[in-house]
Amino acid sequence: MMIEDRIKQLIKPAILDAQAYHVPDSNDLIKLDAMENPYLWPEEIKKAWSDYMQQAELNRYPDASASVLREKLSSALNIPDNTTMMFGNGSDELIQIIMMALNKSSNVIMAPEPSFVMYRLLSSLLELDYIGMPLNDDFSLNLSAMLKSIEENQPAVIFLAWPNNPTGNLFDQSDIETIIKATSGLVVIDEAYHVFAQKSMMSCLEKYKNVLLMRTLSKLGLAGLRLGILVGASEWISEFEKLRLPYNIGTLNQLSANFIIDNISLLEQQAGQIRNDRSVVFNALSDIKGVEVWPSEANFILFKVTEKGAEHVHAELLKHKILIKKLHGAHPSLENCLRVTIGTKEENSAFLSELNKIMK
Ligand code: PMP
Repeated sequence: MMIEDRIKQLIKPAILDAQAYHVPDSNDLIKLDAMENPYLWPEEIKKAWSDYMQQAELNRYPDASASVLREKLSSALNIPDNTTMMFGNGSDELIQIIMMALNKSSNVIMAPEPSFVMYRLLSSLLELDYIGMPLNDDFSLNLSAMLKSIEENQPAVIFLAWPNNPTGNLFDQSDIETIIKATSGLVVIDEAYHVFAQKSMMSCLEKYKNVLLMRTLSKLGLAGLRLGILVGASEWISEFEKLRLPYNIGTLNQLSANFIIDNISLLEQQAGQIRNDRSVVFNALSDIKGVEVWPSEANFILFKVTEKGAEHVHAELLKHKILIKKLHGAHPSLENCLRVTIGTKEENSAFLSELNKIMK
């Protein structure tokens, strides 16, 4: 049998039809495409970290329940009593685990669109039914359409990114609560950008048993670490735990996270700087003719360049070694849209100065 035939025979059609998630090469570029914190740690912190890491015993398997990390995060995040945390290799993995756990007879996933692409991508790879509910023109939730669809399609899980990626806004809290009350399924509130919004819906965990809250250390400044956090009622979490591979959070990751949580003020300071610079970039973008810009509660800004075209602007920026995210083509409401992550002052200035030239 030819290898192609064997592949077709053995691999699921959903996988055969899929494209692998593309991560662009960013060598030598000013990297403003992936919502990373642009700051490194001061030398003394790096030194203290490498001293701390000496205790790693890499001959042993990691602590499967990450008990030290659990204790530190539980107080750092102020998680409510009667809830439990579960850790993922990034929150991407947690989204995947939630989806993998679903019963065949209740396999509908719902998320607003445009939103974080993994909700759609993982649904499709896992052969679940995905319903993307278009947001209103101002990127708020279309509540009546969602309620109607919830009743008709009985989604098992509704994912709500809060703030939303790539639009940057916070959905109305009372709309979210209405959805929580209307669905018999789970609502996952994905607070990946919490540190930039400084608002949380954590209190919903105390009010509703069908809510899970997700955080990640990625945007706070540890994208390289891969640590996602899912919080919810232990009844739910203990089912998902069965799907988590026992050693998904390696020893080096656990220790690094333990270390940095003890030094969390450094990352919070950096996030504060990013929030300030976000207003600077927002104001500068608003002043450029031909740019339409949306306010953001996250560490990125969505903007539209109808006349020049997103393809052109993206390509011109790349010529000047500036990488941002092109969203044009991802969803009809993102026509000619681009997303820029807030970088250092120098990176933001380089981006704004090139963009100004392109838009002339
Ligand atoms: N949720 C949202 C809304 C995101 O935008 C992202 C990253 N782009 C993630 C989750 C995934 O984050 P990570 O896997 O790095 O924790």
